[in-house]
Order: sequence, then structure tokens, then C-alpha cells
Amino acid sequence: MGERTPGGEGIVKFICDEQLGRLAKWLRIQGCDTVFQCPFPDDRLLRRAHDDKRTLLTRDRSLSSKTLWPVVFIKAVHFREQIKELRLKVRMPKASLFSRCLRCNTLIRPLPRSKAQDKVPQEVFDSYKEFFICRDCRQIYWKGSHVKNTEARLLELG
Ligand SMILES: [Zn+2]
Repeated sequence: MGERTPGGEGIVKFICDEQLGRLAKWLRIQGCDTVFQCPFPDDRLLRRAHDDKRTLLTRDRSLSSKTLWPVVFIKAVHFREQIKELRLKVRMPKASLFSRCLRCNTLIRPLPRSKAQDKVPQEVFDSYKEFFICRDCRQIYWKGSHVKNTEARLLELG
């Protein structure tokens, strides 16, 4: 199936069906622009894929007949296998790790430490130096153990 960049205009954006929630989250951790909702009815999923020019990732073969937009079938059931499969089928876009909100897919930006103080638990504030905030849903992130663990897992996954 290989790389497919609709219109040849650069960065591949994704949209995941509702069976691929973990994969969607992993893609956001990678910094990839990834739409995911649950539930996500087929007609809305397909319309969004088309409107946004997104590559559709799905475990549902019947969706292929309903769209002309690039579709990548993910056969694997298990999350780790899904990542391997995705990497075989799609050349992953270059993106910055942890540049997106895991909740809503929006880019996050650094939050000055002084502004983070009243927004995070005191022990978190005392323990971490770098904070980030989602431009949209205002979720706060910090470089902490979760990030380290995730980085380790990403390396492990190769
Ligand atoms: Zn957000």
C-alpha cells in the first residue's frame, strides 16, 4: 500500500475508527495529527476523512468501498502489532514527540513555570521544571515519569 499523501501536499494526517483508540493515542504521542472519537459513526468518520484530507485507519474492510479517500486496513488486533503493521504500510510523517494534546489532538505549547503553579498539584510543581498547555482544552502536561515511561516504550517498540 505504501505512502499515500493526498494531493502530494505534505504531512499525512490520520483519522482512526473507533476500534483503534490506542493506536490513535500512540499517534498523538508521536506528534501526528490524528482525529479520533468514540463513538464515531461511519458516515461522520468518512465525511471528516474527506473534508480534512485525512488517511483513514480502520479495522473495518467494508469502509473501503464507501470512500475514495486513502484507507489503510489494520488487520492486527493487538496494539503493538497494529503499530508494526502501520509502519509497514505508511511512511510515518515527521513530527515532534509530545507536541500534541493526547485528549484533543491540538498542538501544545510551553507554559511558563510561574503560570503553571496554580494549575498543577504542588508536588508536581515542585518536582518538574517544564510545563505545557493545550491551546484548546487547556490540559496541562509536564515532563514527568509518564513521559519517560512512554519514551521508553516507544524505543522498545522501535
Ligand atoms: Zn487538548
